[in-house]
Amino acid sequence: SANRGTTSTNAQSNGHARGPSMLFERPKVANDVTELIGNTPLVRLNRVTVGCQAEVLAKLESMEPCNSVKDRIAYSMITEAENRGEIAPGKTVLVEPTSGNTGIGLAMVAAAKGYELILTMPESMSMERRVLLKAFGANLVLTVASKGMKGAIAKAQEIVDSLGDKAFMLQQFENPDNPKIHLETTGPEIWTDTDGEVRQGGGAEAWLLHMVVVLVGRLFVGGGSGLGSLSCKPGLWAEVDLPGPLRWSAPRLIPLLCSLSPSLPSSLSGPQVDILVGGVGTGGTMTGCAQYLKGRKSSLITVAVEPRESAVLSGDQPGPHKIQGIGAGFVPRNADMSMFDEIQQVSSEESIDMARELAKKEGLLVGISSGAAVTAAIRVGSRPENANKKIVVIIPSFGERYLSTALFQTLWDDAAKMVTSDS
Ligand code: PMP
Repeated sequence: SANRGTTSTNAQSNGHARGPSMLFERPKVANDVTELIGNTPLVRLNRVTVGCQAEVLAKLESMEPCNSVKDRIAYSMITEAENRGEIAPGKTVLVEPTSGNTGIGLAMVAAAKGYELILTMPESMSMERRVLLKAFGANLVLTVASKGMKGAIAKAQEIVDSLGDKAFMLQQFENPDNPKIHLETTGPEIWTDTDGEVRQGGGAEAWLLHMVVVLVGRLFVGGGSGLGSLSCKPGLWAEVDLPGPLRWSAPRLIPLLCSLSPSLPSSLSGPQVDILVGGVGTGGTMTGCAQYLKGRKSSLITVAVEPRESAVLSGDQPGPHKIQGIGAGFVPRNADMSMFDEIQQVSSEESIDMARELAKKEGLLVGISSGAAVTAAIRVGSRPENANKKIVVIIPSFGERYLSTALFQTLWDDAAKMVTSDS
């Protein structure tokens, strides 16, 4: 199949032919697990959205190899540093204070690439966390619970200082390679997956039909702006499986025809995503996706989600909450507030309720922060002015990681009390 690294929509950062989330298609045989990162699907929400007139599409980062959106930044922060010559397996010890999904993603990528990894985390984190990280061969350093994440951060710095040049701290809250991977992969995936354009391997019939729609749209209706803008990318057409003569002429003629037709600002509503909703932890996901998507469609609205109990982005005081992964209690450097059009506050209780509903009514087992994001998406989608709009909501993680947390605590307790039915 075509080398996906050549597509114009797939921004290349590192000169590697492959990496996470090569658009359009997964490799049939991945060279290692990191090639399976990204390229996650969208699924329509059908039953939790009653009363919501907008179409809500969930982007399942829960389907990453280690089941969270953090797999992308683990790959990106390590690979970009490698490409700059700052780190190498066997030489560098990677260090990060993290109790969460970033630690698990880093442990996976470090294992696949042969890096030594030291993670510092408070002793209060669940036993499953410790086991999971150890399973990948990561070194864990526990810090006292009373000092919280601050204690883990101080310990990580102490380790880096003691190791000198050998050590490399990834620093997800400020590392620019965090938002960068979302600008280069997550954002483009959302764009291409919501534009209704013909995919690689669509064949000549699909291609011809598409051409008619695009040209009629652009020339007469004026509504084909979104389709047209993408269709005019020569690189895209090089991906389509066309018969001989068209294979040569299409990539040359289509951009020419498009440039002759009245050019329409891509901010005119096309079929693509209208509203992007997602939680803010480091801010990397929402910042990177917003940068890409607003570049393609200036009318796109972004909705950043934070815990009601710790609504720091809204200017409130930080506070304890149960929505792991979002609501860090400060505004991280990787959260570009100018990219967020609206902030939605969702309580821990609402988030947990929605995550449970998603499992029961949609068959989607997701984490607590996914419940928060979907709650916000439905709120926004229920406004009359957003009827028929297309909302994409980020689902950052899979529910199985939360079996012993407040999300499924009662089920866990009930399960532990169960007895056999035969006596
Ligand atoms: N939810 C979960 C479960 C997460 O692990 C994260 C990442 N910390 C997020 C949401 C938010 O992502 P980001 O750090 O990119 O803002």
